[in-house]
Amino acid sequence: MSNGILVFIEHKSGALSKTSLEAVAAAQKLGSETGQSVTAVVLGSGVQALAQDMAAYDLAKVINVDHSQLADYTPDAYAAAMEQVVRAADPQYVLMSHTYLVRDFAPKVAARFGRGLIGDCIRMTVAGGKVTFTRRIFLGKLDADVSSDGQSPVFVTFQSGAFRPDQAVKGSGAPIEEMPVDLSEARMKPEAPFQEVKQAVDLTKTDVIVAVGRGIKSKDNIALAEQLAEVLGGDLAASRPICDAEWLPIDRQIGSSGQTVAPRLYIALGISGAIQHLVGMKNSGTIVAINKDPEAPIFDIADYGIVGDLFEALPVLTEEIRKLKG
Ligand SMILES: Cc1cc2nc3c(=O)[nH]c(=O)nc-3n(C[C@H](O)[C@H](O)[C@H](O)COP(=O)(O)OP(=O)(O)OC[C@H]3O[C@@H](n4cnc5c(N)ncnc54)[C@H](O)[C@@H]3O)c2cc1C
Repeated sequence: MSNGILVFIEHKSGALSKTSLEAVAAAQKLGSETGQSVTAVVLGSGVQALAQDMAAYDLAKVINVDHSQLADYTPDAYAAAMEQVVRAADPQYVLMSHTYLVRDFAPKVAARFGRGLIGDCIRMTVAGGKVTFTRRIFLGKLDADVSSDGQSPVFVTFQSGAFRPDQAVKGSGAPIEEMPVDLSEARMKPEAPFQEVKQAVDLTKTDVIVAVGRGIKSKDNIALAEQLAEVLGGDLAASRPICDAEWLPIDRQIGSSGQTVAPRLYIALGISGAIQHLVGMKNSGTIVAINKDPEAPIFDIADYGIVGDLFEALPVLTEEIRKLKG
């Protein structure tokens, strides 16, 4: 019978993605509540150092798949490698973060096992031996509880922020197993990444986000928010109308048709808090909102709120933080 939990570790040229630790935290929680061991899998070329780093976590083992065709990501090679790891490890669950890369190759792997993929989950509960995964549907209007039919492997991805990376528990040194794979069927050859891809910001990795909405009124005023982001060492983001108007590029959009983020601090400036925006940021650690409308729904989820004109509050806030930071 299948047993254990396999957790996929994503990285960029050997640098661990923060969301992978969230997946490890999820896998460890599932493991402790169902009495199953957790194995991490690292795919790449020359990423032994990362496998070593992962071995420091409380895991039964780390599987390192080292292959020249895994040096640069292709869905072809990743799917083939992951399929072979899953067949060899025969886990009951395969847990991953719901990143762009995972979204690209993981459904293909699940399909090869004739299984579905329970995607973009925000929660997991274990009760009476039954595991339930919760995912948002209808643009966040409803939560659906999903459980598997008992057949393994069960492929699951978690939304960024569903678990905290610092919840991943360290251990006393897990063994590393090198696993050979046959990628002769993988035909894709990656080319150099587009320049745009290189420049694109990945807001999921940012600790502080200053987001602007329609309340900012004009493209020129975004400089005010930029100053706040700068003193906080954070990144700028926006609601959809701002990106639709091309005041900021699309990779800065937060929400159901943009990025899902969970920074430690999210400051929403002149953002009403439409559900399509909230689903992209509600897992943030601390949410601060400035809005002149006391009824704005953003205040329902804000930890701190300033009801007032952002053009009055923002320069003062920036100045005070600048003073504090010396
Ligand atoms: C299929 C679909 C997908 C969508 N996807 C996304 C998405 O990914 N991301 C997203 O953000 N939206 C998305 N939307 C749009 C979403 O429904 C909202 O229209 C949008 O989020 C509103 O943006 P906003 O809060 O900036 O603007 P508004 O709703 O117009 O809010 C502006 C706010 O600024 C405040 N304000 C105005 N002036 C000031 C001032 N001087 N000082 C302080 N506050 C002020 C106002 O009180 C108001 O609350 C989507 C919609 C659909 C239908």
